[in-house]
Amino acid sequence: MVFEFATAQIGAACVFVFRKKVESKNVLRIEVRVSRTLASLLLIAVVFALASCRTVSTPAVSNTSRTFSTVVVDAGHGGKDNGAFRRYGPPEKIAALDVATRLARKLRESQFKVVMTRSSDVFIPLEERAAIGRAQKNSIFVSIHFNDSSRRGIRGFETYYHSPLAYPLAQRIQNHLLTISGSVNRGVHHANFRVLRKATYPSVLVECGFLSNRGEGARARAAGARELLADKIAEAIVEERYGSGVYHAPANAIPPTDSAGSSVEP
Ligand SMILES: [Zn+2]
Repeated sequence: MVFEFATAQIGAACVFVFRKKVESKNVLRIEVRVSRTLASLLLIAVVFALASCRTVSTPAVSNTSRTFSTVVVDAGHGGKDNGAFRRYGPPEKIAALDVATRLARKLRESQFKVVMTRSSDVFIPLEERAAIGRAQKNSIFVSIHFNDSSRRGIRGFETYYHSPLAYPLAQRIQNHLLTISGSVNRGVHHANFRVLRKATYPSVLVECGFLSNRGEGARARAAGARELLADKIAEAIVEERYGSGVYHAPANAIPPTDSAGSSVEP
């Protein structure tokens, strides 16, 4: 709430500054007395003000893809927000929390610090989820969801990113999911989702299949299939950080000098 209010105020300031710019141009045409230097200074001020406005609405993202020591795991929806709710699958909030919990366990086994935005069936606003991600230094953010469509034939995995810095992680997760037999590739896409847009570290959102599809809905109900989804995502995350071949080998995953985590600082 506080953050939204601040954004609105800054937005108003942007408009104000823009109007000032237009007014100053008109004045320049009519009154020759305004010096060129003053006009240049005004223009520079306007450019800086607009640039800072843009920075606030979409924060800069630090590239922690090769250094991250923490993974923020975000189980989509929860509490009053069921997410997708279709006849073939469990409610999205339940399936997402289960996959997220399994993913968190696997990442801890691979020596990452893991922070979950929720670990029970509670409602967490999107703004708060993004803030939890921003508060974790040297981290990445992975949001787990299941998909929904009014067309029951649609199925497949999709992975989303906002910052270009998160694209390699998104692509890697998608590639690993596609090694599951019978999987369908619906692609890696740029999206303006709030949890991705408000992130200051590489952040992705994974759609783990369509609850509206008979086959994928059934898979989302099966614990073994949810375990496999978590396994593929964890493998991709470990590979993104340490390279291929180290997943399930945590002792090799940590560089020898890193007993206190000092060598993984950005
Ligand atoms: Zn969702």
